[in-house]
Amino acid sequence: MTKWVYTFGNGKAEGRADMKNLLGGKGANLAEMSNLGIAVPAGFTITTEVCTYYYDNGKTYPKELVDQVVTALAEVEESMGAGFGRADNPLLVSVRSGARASMPGMMDTVLNLGLNDATVQGLIERSGDARFAYDSYRRFIQMYSDVVLGVDHYHFEEILEAHKEDKGYTLDTELGADDWKQLVVLFKARVQEELGEPFPEDPEAQLWGAVGAVFGSWMNQRAITYRRLHEIPAAWGTAVTVQAMVFGNMGEDCATGVCFSRDPSTGENVFYGEYLVNAQGEDVVAGIRTPQQISIAGKEKNQSTLPSMEEVMPGLYKELVETRDKLEAHYSDMQDMEFTIQGGKLWMLQTRNGKRTAPAALRIAVDMAKQGIITTDEAILRIEPEALDQLLHPMLDPKAERTVLTRGLPASPGAASGAVVFNAKTAEDKAKNGQAVILVRIETSPEDIGGMHAARGILTTRGGMTSHAAVVARGMGRPCVAGAGEVRVDYKAGTLTVGSTVVKEGDWVTLDGANGEVMLGEVPTIQPELTGDFGALMEWADAKRTMKVRTNAETPEDAETARRFGCEGIGLCRTEHMFFDAKRIINMRRMILAQDEAGRRAALADLLPYQREDFISLFRIMVGLPVTIRLLDPPLHEFLPHTDAEIADVAKAAGVEPEQVRHRASVLAESNPMLGHRGCRLGITYPEIYEMQARAIFEAAIAVSKDEGAEPPLPEIMIPLVATKRELDMLKAVIDATAKAVFAEQGTTVEYIVGTMIELPRAALRGGAIAETAHFFSFGTNDLTQTTLGMSRDDSGPFLEVYRAKGVYERDPFASLDVEGVGELVQIAAERGRATRPDLKLGICGEHGGDPHSIAFCQSVGLDYVSCSPYRVPIARLAAAQAALTQAAK
Ligand code: PEP
Ligand code: MG
Repeated sequence: MTKWVYTFGNGKAEGRADMKNLLGGKGANLAEMSNLGIAVPAGFTITTEVCTYYYDNGKTYPKELVDQVVTALAEVEESMGAGFGRADNPLLVSVRSGARASMPGMMDTVLNLGLNDATVQGLIERSGDARFAYDSYRRFIQMYSDVVLGVDHYHFEEILEAHKEDKGYTLDTELGADDWKQLVVLFKARVQEELGEPFPEDPEAQLWGAVGAVFGSWMNQRAITYRRLHEIPAAWGTAVTVQAMVFGNMGEDCATGVCFSRDPSTGENVFYGEYLVNAQGEDVVAGIRTPQQISIAGKEKNQSTLPSMEEVMPGLYKELVETRDKLEAHYSDMQDMEFTIQGGKLWMLQTRNGKRTAPAALRIAVDMAKQGIITTDEAILRIEPEALDQLLHPMLDPKAERTVLTRGLPASPGAASGAVVFNAKTAEDKAKNGQAVILVRIETSPEDIGGMHAARGILTTRGGMTSHAAVVARGMGRPCVAGAGEVRVDYKAGTLTVGSTVVKEGDWVTLDGANGEVMLGEVPTIQPELTGDFGALMEWADAKRTMKVRTNAETPEDAETARRFGCEGIGLCRTEHMFFDAKRIINMRRMILAQDEAGRRAALADLLPYQREDFISLFRIMVGLPVTIRLLDPPLHEFLPHTDAEIADVAKAAGVEPEQVRHRASVLAESNPMLGHRGCRLGITYPEIYEMQARAIFEAAIAVSKDEGAEPPLPEIMIPLVATKRELDMLKAVIDATAKAVFAEQGTTVEYIVGTMIELPRAALRGGAIAETAHFFSFGTNDLTQTTLGMSRDDSGPFLEVYRAKGVYERDPFASLDVEGVGELVQIAAERGRATRPDLKLGICGEHGGDPHSIAFCQSVGLDYVSCSPYRVPIARLAAAQAALTQAAK
């Protein structure tokens, strides 16, 4: 016979904590507490399987259910020494829902069930308080009518208000026993009027009505929506827990409260909670009365004048502390608990793992590992890597009010407020004067770099998670909201508009780069600190991971930030980003727009010293660590001059007429630049560019190798956008020849290796052949995603939103690797490459290198390292440790 009902109470239970699927979270934990010998009011749980049966069988119950409930109820009666429906000593129960995953407030609850005109007399006798008994009775009628009978609350509010007016009362507390008694009669009359039948007096009928209502509420609109948002399958169903009522509002020796075994906002190992004497649970939550602190320490910390439980009920407080210690040790996690004290006896009503902020999660995990409650491996696995983000960037004060104007993509985390400006130059000027600004652009381009750096945050209306703005902002650690499609920017008028709201240049806005919100005005931020706990967790994580973590960086600032965050080298130095600076971009443009090789060489000669200096500083910052330098890969549209002024500047620098420059720019313009003349194609057509860059690298490496006592740099020269072995062979020949020339000139040598990015499907498939030349592969999954999915990384934002909403791709494939498709290409390339060259070094440097989900995949295919933007380095370190631990456990 199927067991549909599980009892608990009196120091024993038929269920256990690990039976959540069957008993729901609440039912399983009540059973567990009972088994632990903690006083919980006796009760029973009707399983989730009954819910499934109910919906599969035309809303009927399995035939054995009634008998099983009757037997369970008899046990509860015995435990509690009271009888369900017995007039002299009535047992009252609560009927609550409880799914596998917590769904707070989504489903229905009925309290005080079992009351009728006869049993209320018993309650008066037992409590010695007629007012309390009639108040409980009328609350029950109200709740039951609303939840089970469908008679709305307002009917009863109306009657109550009329009664108060009649009697000249303003507060509910002014009503006495007789008032509530009269109201009970009026409430029941209203139910009769509305339904054409009386309110059920029979406790058994009440019970089955409530059970049906709770199962019914599994399919209410609120619950359906909540399940959709939290990916909870409808098939899980809810359990129903029927439990003896205990009352915190039966006098001065009664109380009720909620508490956490540690502080849920800071994680501090202090018992934290609130309680109220002579009150019901809902009074604590609803804020009708000011709750009091449970401990003296909490009272002092909150500067409360109200007495703490520790002072008012010292014996019971001690018992509560013992329960807290027992439960926390048993669950090995911070607990969120509810309790009630009735007539001087403590009852626990609920316990569950408590929700907590990111700083609290970190502190709790580290403290618990140090206390030996959990292992360091468990501590590593307990922290959501993404949550570390909150610890690394300033964040909005969670207590502050926000007026959300619109939303975009959460492109770079952190929060920032400032005055709106619409161009980079203004941003720089204002920032120089100490003003906080937010740079708003339709999209950004390399000449905006100074302004982006000067701004506190960046907002764009176009572009996705790998757009220029997003990548650069993440690299700099600037908060960025990208692709906010509702925003209309009018550069001429100096306004941005969302619907009917107009924000003018100089008006303040706030960005939350962690959730993509754009808010009006200034929302205060708080500066998180990297505490010792952070360092401890990172140390444990580093000891467990097998993949290295490098960074994507090209400026000394970024490289230093990444080293502070523990990177183990540079996995991608995008050399074209080194030319964004105003002084350099002019020579870069000169080079691109030159009519012939001589013109290009002249411009390149001017760029060489900058390159060399940049590489020298990167090598010095990364001393002893590998530095992967990618040769030029500029999508040309990012570098062509647009305005007349820009064209005039380039013409002047090159000593030619503006018309010539304009003409050349129009010749070079491409209609599909992402698939155009970029990457190694530039090196194949103009080898002198890569020759100059290789020279700069070798000269810099030699210079740094002469530093006193320094380990020699480890340059890894990387060729972008390779499709064929032939391309790589030709370009490696240019690099090797340059090395030879520089080494001869300088009379010394340095070690270096040459490898390639794998960012085209053809290169992945031909990994076996390409590895004959390449010493390493670095997966450029931004382009590999773009070219595998056939979706432009710059333009796909708007329709990808729809794709995700409709479930075509579960996640944004530019943020989290499409493991099925792009992942298979990565795997093929890795296998074929290693078959040719067993010691082939494998890494990833697309944006996915900082995404925990993608990092787990990288572990599974055996990559040697991941590389990500500086602020994601700690996240990647933790995610890599988790991936290694999970893999080892398999
Ligand atoms: C890539 O394509 O993944 C990559 C890292 O290169 P970029 O983003 O510079 O094209
Ligand atoms: Mg690329």
